[in-house]
Amino acid sequence: MNNKRINIAIDGYSSCGKGTLAKALAQELGYLFIDSGAMYRAVAYATIQHRIAVDNTSEIIKLLPSLNISFDYNSENNYYNTFLNDVNIEYAIRTMAISNIVSPISKIDEVRTFLVAQQQQIALNKCVVMDGRDIGTVVLPKAELKLFMISKAEIRAQRRYNELLEKGTKNITLAEVLENLNTRDMQDISRANSPLKAATDAIIIDNSELTKQEQFDMAMGLVRERIFPF
Ligand code: C5P
Repeated sequence: MNNKRINIAIDGYSSCGKGTLAKALAQELGYLFIDSGAMYRAVAYATIQHRIAVDNTSEIIKLLPSLNISFDYNSENNYYNTFLNDVNIEYAIRTMAISNIVSPISKIDEVRTFLVAQQQQIALNKCVVMDGRDIGTVVLPKAELKLFMISKAEIRAQRRYNELLEKGTKNITLAEVLENLNTRDMQDISRANSPLKAATDAIIIDNSELTKQEQFDMAMGLVRERIFPF
């Protein structure tokens, strides 16, 4: 059977389940999963680590050449970790402290150029599922399948809140999580460089009322049409 190698771009609003779907597809297909948001979070983490103010754009830009961001994937438990200069920062980049500063940092042109070049390099040989905000529009405009996930803000906030509680985060309210999602979405939609938007050829999936399995089945149907076109 003709088994075509493809790239899959998954974009959408914050906490829309993009990562969950991307990971499940990557595991099913034996593809590489790339969480592009983790790369922006890694830059935000380094900014805090070096005590650079979020609005100090020139210092953030100077930091970039010293940042080596990598991922380690364990196929046995489908577990992904993000590393910065060989230090595991997976847990540290998911905190609210990072979520609150990542969007202003991600609108810096040089930060985007630096990360987009790496994302494109990783996807050169195909067989990549990448999730983010500009994957279908800017990073992989020729991706064979583009999905754009949407979901009601309250549902997204509740999912993210549950995740944070499960990870042991304390002193956080659902209202704070909702506020952070809305603020980030507004910043991501309104920035000049690579704003969050659906590519014209993206398929929109509203998962407000879908289970993870239903969402996965829907996406796999679309993947199969592209992998086995004949
Ligand atoms: O996906 P995640 O919520 O972890 O992304 C964190 C932030 O990184 C987003 O709110 C956005 O500001 C930025 N981002 C981006 N472009 C991407 C992925 C993430 O600007 N492709």
